[in-house]
Amino acid sequence: GIAWIENEFVPIGKARIPILDQGFLHSDLTYDVPAVWNGRIFRLDDHLDRLEVSCAKMRLPLPIARPELRRLVMELVSRSGLRDAYVEIIVTRGLKFLRGAQAEDIIPNLYLMAVPYVWILPLEYQNHGAPAVVTRTVRRTPPGALDPTIKNLQWGDLVRGLMEAGDRDSFFPILPDGDGNATEGAGYNIVLVRNGELHTPRRGVLEGITRRTVLEIAAARGLKTHVTEIPIQALYECDELFMCSTAGGIMPLVLLDGNIVGDGTVGPVTRMIWEAYWDLHDDPQLS
Ligand code: PLP
Repeated sequence: GIAWIENEFVPIGKARIPILDQGFLHSDLTYDVPAVWNGRIFRLDDHLDRLEVSCAKMRLPLPIARPELRRLVMELVSRSGLRDAYVEIIVTRGLKFLRGAQAEDIIPNLYLMAVPYVWILPLEYQNHGAPAVVTRTVRRTPPGALDPTIKNLQWGDLVRGLMEAGDRDSFFPILPDGDGNATEGAGYNIVLVRNGELHTPRRGVLEGITRRTVLEIAAARGLKTHVTEIPIQALYECDELFMCSTAGGIMPLVLLDGNIVGDGTVGPVTRMIWEAYWDLHDDPQLS
């Protein structure tokens, strides 16, 4: 892997973050993570759009102009020599604690890295589906928590969810919000299929680019899609359930808290979405 720190490209093993960086000290940062497949960055402009919006909501100035950032990311990937990779684009509040200062006057820090894509999940999950759990840990939502549409590293609840899932032999926690509606998991959105229509939570979630892609694929095939409140109970009563993220693609979830979802196999809509999603990665328009 390779990183870009303080205006230099460095091998990943040599990349160091200054200990006074406010991103490290106070999680005062936002970031985005596009992926590279077969040498192409999937939906880079969507990721840069979301990063810009996240920065604006955080009152963080974008450290360099957007076209320059785009060029830098392309150069990073090309220098990395990686064909399949994650790219992290991280913008932090820089080295000075925000006290009395105008947020927009600070000098932000930009960090980039490209690291090899490693599939850490059992392969059988992709083919036959994975077990998920609904956690007791509640997803913190505004006004008590940061706006979840800002991609952020305040992962306390998600990490607790991951531990709960691990204790129950699952990699996939699904966190409810305080009202008993489903939100998301540790780095992924969830989508359920009921009577051929797709439903995905509206509140308490990052607006995932994979999820947007999924909804576009479904709509293009005439399937109805709903971004709406989803009571936890609906997860147990659906025909198909899957999670989706840049890192994990489309992952069917066939067991929920030990109960079989639908008929317990990877359903036809999930399979269709999975295939269409990966077909899009071969589209030269996307590079
Ligand atoms: N939800 C959270 C909390 C995330 O960190 C992510 C990022 O991967 C997602 C959902 C999925 O978003 P995307 O599809 O843009 O990767």
